[in-house]
Amino acid sequence: MFILKIVTDFSSAHSLRDYPGDCANMHGHNWKVEVLVSSKELDESGMVIDFREIKQQTKKVISKLDHRYLNEVKPFDKVNPTAENLAKYLYEEIDKNITNDKVIVYKVIVWENSRYSASYQK
Ligand SMILES: [Zn+2]
Repeated sequence: MFILKIVTDFSSAHSLRDYPGDCANMHGHNWKVEVLVSSKELDESGMVIDFREIKQQTKKVISKLDHRYLNEVKPFDKVNPTAENLAKYLYEEIDKNITNDKVIVYKVIVWENSRYSASYQK
């Protein structure tokens, strides 16, 4: 299997519901996002998919979250905006946008700082 990875980032604020600690208060993160896509085969030019395509589709989804207060953005007005839920949301939305039927999103990793990350994969 071939795996491509792009790395990007965005900034947003959030506060965690039902959480007995500092993160219950509103605060910001510069989230780092890694998007990995996989394919069992290459196209005729020897590629999985153009990196720019992954970047564009990721950007589309992230633009809804960038410089926002996540607790006011769907689905995080109801779903707790944890790194785990962000990873799942990004996985599902980016996977929807990648229309190449040989390529699937393999994994999304969301870093909330340089030490802590959460990832989602099927
Ligand atoms: Zn936080």
